[in-house]
Amino acid sequence: ATPTALLVGTGRGAQLGILIKGPEILERTRVVDTVVLDKTGTVTQGRMALTDVLLPAGTPDSAAARAEALRLAAAVEARSEHPIAQAVVAAWAQEAGPGPEEPAAGQDGVQIGWDEVYDFAATPGRGVLGVVRTAHAGVGMGHRVLVGRPSWLAEHGVQTVALHTAFTEAEQAGATAVMVAWGGTARAVLVVRDPLKPTSRAAVDELRALGLRPLLLTGDNEGAARAVAREVGIEEVVAQVLPEDKLAWVERLQRDGRRVAMVGDGVNDAAALAAADLGLAMGTGTDVAIEAADITLVRGDLRAAAQAIALSRRTLRIIR
Ligand code: ADP
Ligand code: MG
Repeated sequence: ATPTALLVGTGRGAQLGILIKGPEILERTRVVDTVVLDKTGTVTQGRMALTDVLLPAGTPDSAAARAEALRLAAAVEARSEHPIAQAVVAAWAQEAGPGPEEPAAGQDGVQIGWDEVYDFAATPGRGVLGVVRTAHAGVGMGHRVLVGRPSWLAEHGVQTVALHTAFTEAEQAGATAVMVAWGGTARAVLVVRDPLKPTSRAAVDELRALGLRPLLLTGDNEGAARAVAREVGIEEVVAQVLPEDKLAWVERLQRDGRRVAMVGDGVNDAAALAAADLGLAMGTGTDVAIEAADITLVRGDLRAAAQAIALSRRTLRIIR
C-alpha cells in the first residue's frame, strides 16, 4: 500500500466530516455486505417531541392528572440524556412556563421546578426511576417515580394493565410510548415522536447501491420501527432489541457469513460497533459509541456513511 494515497483518502474524508481512525480500516470497507442501522439518533433525529399524555380510561379531572404525570416524569427524566427524556422535560418546561424565581435547591437533590429528585437510577434500554419530593406539598412527601417500558415497570412491581390499550394503540400508530408510574401504579402513557433525518432515505438508497443490505436494529417497539423502516425503504427490521442483544445480532449475522457494517450513536450501540467488521459512529452521538467505532461521521448525517465507504473503496483502488 502507498501510504501517501491512504493519507489522501483519509484527508479527503476529514474534509467531508468523515474521520477514519487508521489506514487499515479502508480495507474493511471493501468486504462489508450488510449495514446494520440503529434507529434513534442514527436514522431519526433522536430529538423526540411529546405529542400526547394518555390516562387510563375513565380517569376524572384529566387535565390536572395529565399535568401531574408530566411533572413527575419530567422531574426524573431531567437526570437522563435519552431523547425520550429530553422530549418529556421540554414539554414540561413549555407547559410550566417560567419556574419559581428563586428555587430553594435541595442539598443533594436535583431540582426541576419545585420538585427534587433523589436516588436516581437509569437502566439503559428500559427506563429511569427516582424519588421525587415536592417542596410545596409538605415535608416528607416523596413519590418513587418510574418512567419506561411497561415490562420493566412490571419487574418493579408496577400495575400497568389499566394503560395497556392506550400504550398498544400508540405504538401501533408508529409512535414511541413509555409509561410513568408512582405508588405502584402506572398513571399515564407518554407518547413521543422522532422525525427522520432529512437525508436518511437517500442514504439508505446509496448504501444499497454500494451493495450493502440494510437492516434496522432498534430497542424501540415494532410499530415505531416499522414506520421508520417503511419511510426510508428498509425491509429487514429487528425491534425491541435490548442493548446487550445488539451485539448478539451483529455476531449472529457474522456467523451467517455476512460482513457487517454497523452505524450507531448510543451507549447501547457501542459493543455492536466494536464487534462489527466496520463500525461507524455518529459524531453527534455519545463518546462511548465514537470510541468503539472505526469511523466517525462528524455531522451525524447518515449519507456520510455511504460516502465513507465509497471514498475508502476508491482510495484502495488508487493504491492498487
Ligand atoms: P434505540 O435502540 O432506538 O436507540 P434505546 O435502546 O435507547 O432505543 O431505548 C429503548 C427503550 O427503552 C425506549 O423506547 C424506552 O421504552 C426505554 N427507555 C430507555 N431510556 C429511557 C428513558 N430515559 N426514559 C424512558 N424510557 C426509556
Ligand atoms: Mg440510538
